[in-house]
Amino acid sequence: MTMRILGYSYEATIVCPACALADAEEGRIIPDGRIRFEHDEHGLLDNLEDHHGNPLRPVFSTDEGAHDEFCGSCLERLEWCL
Ligand SMILES: [Zn+2]
Repeated sequence: MTMRILGYSYEATIVCPACALADAEEGRIIPDGRIRFEHDEHGLLDNLEDHHGNPLRPVFSTDEGAHDEFCGSCLERLEWCL
């Protein structure tokens, strides 16, 4: 099974990739200023953090219970958002 990123954990919730991208565009999650960073499989920078300075934690398809998680923003099931 290929490990995929189903969503991201930040601001005390889990958010699907589409909603995380929208949050990044609107400045709700911001790069932490590191010089070296990569884009992940959804095009999101890997150095993003929330406004409390906590880094985004990817939720992987191999994580226990990940397939039962819902996006806290659009309320869709994470695996349906891909
Ligand atoms: Zn969503």
